Amino acid sequence: MEVLRLVPIYCGARTDLLQPLADRLTHVFHLRVEQHAPGFDPELAFDSSRGQYNSRTLLGRLLRDTPKDTARVLGIAGVDLFIPVLTFVFGEAQLEGRAAAVSTYRLDSQLYGLPADSDLLFERLCKEAIHELGHTYNLMHCHHNRCVMTSSTYVEDIDLKSDQFCRRCYRAVQEARPR
Ligand SMILES: [Zn+2]
Ligand SMILES: [Zn+2]
Repeated sequence: MEVLRLVPIYCGARTDLLQPLADRLTHVFHLRVEQHAPGFDPELAFDSSRGQYNSRTLLGRLLRDTPKDTARVLGIAGVDLFIPVLTFVFGEAQLEGRAAAVSTYRLDSQLYGLPADSDLLFERLCKEAIHELGHTYNLMHCHHNRCVMTSSTYVEDIDLKSDQFCRRCYRAVQEARPR
């Protein structure tokens, strides 16, 4: 069974979400999930002019840290991520690569002045983690209404999609898995 390494990066109090997330990802991708502390200082991804963390830097470090025989690595961040061309990202992945990262930061309803909702936060995190890992199986964005591979610009977009692959994306993941 392929191994997915789950790496918490500044998750603060939200490390409670890691095990349920690991269970969900095991179920979806049939991977063995191992949790691992980051072997680098995540502060090196901090961009002081933006006050955010460069997700591309994190992906590079996650990859450098991860043994070759580990199929995939997913960073779970609790900080605001960006890529240079965008104001922010919920997460990022290398297409057909091994590394992905997601952040809980903009998934938390408290950021939008709403009451805390742990269940909603967890559902959003699952969707974005499945979405970013989907990219590592070479999936592009999908236009199927509720497919988890639909791209999300705003947090409301995440709530509109399901945590499931459409039939075509599901098949593509199955085909990308080693037999
Ligand atoms: Zn995407
Ligand atoms: Zn799809």
